[in-house]
Amino acid sequence: MKGELQAKDQVSQNSVSARLLAWYTTQARILPWRVLPGERLRGVRPVPYRVWLSEIMLQQTTVPVVIAYYKAFLEKWPNLSALASATEEEVLQAWSGLGYYTRARNLLKAAGCLQEKYQALFPEEPEQLQKLPGIGPYTAAAIAAIAFDKAVPVVDGNIARIVSRLFCITTPFPAAHKIAVQRMGELTPEEAPGDFVQAMMDLGAALCTPQKPKCPLCPLQEICLAFQNASPSRGPEFFPQKKRPPAKPQRSGILFLAERSDGAVLLRKRPPQGILASMIELPGTEWVPEEASLSGNLDEAEEIPTLLMQVPLQGVWKEITTPTRPLRHIFTHFRLSLRIWHGQFSELTPAPSGHWWCPQEALEKEALPSVMRKALTYRQLA
Ligand code: SF4
Repeated sequence: MKGELQAKDQVSQNSVSARLLAWYTTQARILPWRVLPGERLRGVRPVPYRVWLSEIMLQQTTVPVVIAYYKAFLEKWPNLSALASATEEEVLQAWSGLGYYTRARNLLKAAGCLQEKYQALFPEEPEQLQKLPGIGPYTAAAIAAIAFDKAVPVVDGNIARIVSRLFCITTPFPAAHKIAVQRMGELTPEEAPGDFVQAMMDLGAALCTPQKPKCPLCPLQEICLAFQNASPSRGPEFFPQKKRPPAKPQRSGILFLAERSDGAVLLRKRPPQGILASMIELPGTEWVPEEASLSGNLDEAEEIPTLLMQVPLQGVWKEITTPTRPLRHIFTHFRLSLRIWHGQFSELTPAPSGHWWCPQEALEKEALPSVMRKALTYRQLA
């Protein structure tokens, strides 16, 4: 209780926001969707469509990766109405490689919903924003704060880390998330809350990093309890405390990489439901739990004939991965290992039903998820 009082006393709203906003005035990152403090002073206001687009792209993806996609999206669909009239195929194509494709589908659904129900304007309150597809509590709060200057608590991974260090929160995450939201609510000022939130994000990216935080350069070092009370075993890096997540289950499958002599590759579309819904893929077997996989149940003599019954085209196939070195990919809820079989075909080979030959130069434009792009790099082993 004593420590709690001391923490609240020392890390107050005024002490944090004044220091942080002064730092942000000179250190803010230049980002294509951002209105800088100096521009704000000149009356420039953030465009909600751009803030929303960037926040959806930044879920699960880093800033450097998002910048190129964001610029390409904006060039194609400069405003909400333009995006609302795009097809799902076009949006998935533009999203290809960014991962977590439900975000792209929800983006389009939300654009349609905003166009129809809100006359292409964004609601300003987090509660209303949260009713739109793909917008959870964090994204709603971030849009409300950044686009509309609402003093609402915004807590992403970076901000949770800073707050847990400022207040020395010993409760492990995710249980500590509620505490972090409460503390962030106490810290967020009524004046310039959008800049404050973005300053916290920048501090987390530049100085209060997960490892080796640069405390001597930090504008909050005088009031940060983790820095002030640091001991060899309990410095800033001790926070945030995290509960170890359970191990991800393992799935496996086989991909058939069919290539024509002119370099075209055989593709098909995934079903409209389930993981990577409606994305484009190489044909292959189902992705099943490891213990139920072909290679888990069969010895090699049995495996090959069983496998050849599933190939999309009859021909000569050979494995280009090895059982111990498959293609590995990590999804949110499971780890995937894929063995890849390669088949070479003549230019005249017709594509089987539900498949098509994609010319080499058109592969870039297909809505191929990262795991399939990775699989295509294995062609060099054929
Ligand atoms: Fe983070 Fe160090 Fe700054 Fe504290 S002093 S907020 S630990 S960078």
